[in-house]
Amino acid sequence: MTEYKSYALHNFRDIPQMEYLTEEQKFNIEVVGTVLPFKTNNYVVDELIDWNNFEKNPFFILNFPQKEMLDEASFKSVATVLKRGAPKKEIQDVVRKVRLKLNPNPAGQESNVPVFEGKKLNGIQHKYRETMLFFPTQGQTCHAYCTFCFRWPQFALNEFKFAMKEADKLVQYVKANPHITDVIFTGGDPAVMKTRFFETYFNALLEADIPNLKNIRIGTKSLAYWPYRFTTDNDASDLLRLFKKMKRKGINIALMAHFNHPSELKTDAVKRAVKRLIDAGVQIRSQSPVLKHINAHADIWAENWKLQVRLGIIPYYMFIARDTGAQDYFAVSLNQTWQIFRNAYNQVSGICRTVKGPSMSCNPGKIQVVGVSEIKGEKVFVLNFLQGRDPGWVGKPFFAKYDPNAIWIDDLEPAFGVSNFFFEESYYQMLA
Ligand SMILES: *Cc1c(COP(=O)(O)O)cnc(C)c1O
Ligand code: SF4
Repeated sequence: MTEYKSYALHNFRDIPQMEYLTEEQKFNIEVVGTVLPFKTNNYVVDELIDWNNFEKNPFFILNFPQKEMLDEASFKSVATVLKRGAPKKEIQDVVRKVRLKLNPNPAGQESNVPVFEGKKLNGIQHKYRETMLFFPTQGQTCHAYCTFCFRWPQFALNEFKFAMKEADKLVQYVKANPHITDVIFTGGDPAVMKTRFFETYFNALLEADIPNLKNIRIGTKSLAYWPYRFTTDNDASDLLRLFKKMKRKGINIALMAHFNHPSELKTDAVKRAVKRLIDAGVQIRSQSPVLKHINAHADIWAENWKLQVRLGIIPYYMFIARDTGAQDYFAVSLNQTWQIFRNAYNQVSGICRTVKGPSMSCNPGKIQVVGVSEIKGEKVFVLNFLQGRDPGWVGKPFFAKYDPNAIWIDDLEPAFGVSNFFFEESYYQMLA
């Protein structure tokens, strides 16, 4: 069994490999790590990061806060109070101001929280008709925090924390909404939960015998950052037995695995974990955003998909980096992202082409950049809803003026001199 060692702001200097860093580099981690959540573990440090070239290593950048993730003024304001050894309260005030500049609640997550029998159901988000998100209280943390992650306010700011304790609320909600076929356990990383919590939730769903419930999905980074969760952890075998039982009872278990880079698929530990899950009848699907400094190249994506398929993983989504946190640091333009998608898609055979994207998860829905085209002399982005708050929006291509610098839907305007995108009126009515 591999012992779990967790590192964060208070103890990262104990990581033996910190000897590769200068004092200044360590101080920079401290500054940015005071603003953005920072947590990593011994698997990432020992198995994924190549310390000989750590400054360019994708897992170093994804786990250790980088100076450039804050704008210069913000960095300086935090560095100054830390250097001066200012009182805690003063540091907190400065940090709070910087955080609020970083769009801590993107894509209107608050507006996805349903009201049920007169009460707000914190812990559930229901945006797309067939699919609800469930945030189990015990799964609202992660094995390591990704520096680009839009969930960062949950770790850093308690008031944004979505959580729910009771399994019966979950059951009642799925029962009362016969359109729901999929329950997605999400977080944080629900695979951080002990198996006994999974048992509580899954058994409640089984006992309720809900005819509309077909798929339970688990959105997780654990395969990449702590594969021992499915192999040698104390309750790993219990978890696999539970998955097998669900499958036997007719519920499909899909692990929505988050892989950013092909190197995450190459360790013995991850290969063993994938094999065990697949042997237990679990479907593994993969998703990741395109991130500058990490994977913004078509060859990386092609390798990723090919490796995944060889291991039995189904490529699922390519995302466009969210408009939150260190977005400027990781952002790739819509045009470049589309080129990366296309050039990667062109290199692989049909069995890798289960992937959808590149897609922006924005407030109205998941919007795919189908491509760039020219229509009657006007250069345009062709866009398409893969998911929509209104299912009727899905699959109707629409057009935005081409803009080589656009990185998010907010940067786009409708093409052909039209004043609104087709969905906007009904979308604003929905919000009202
Ligand atoms: C992506 C997402 C889902 C799942 O969508 P699928 O296309 O079915 O994978 C569900 N809810 C929210 C809020 C999402 O962002
Ligand atoms: S594991 Fe997932 S939820 Fe956790 S920090 Fe990374 S992207 Fe965010």
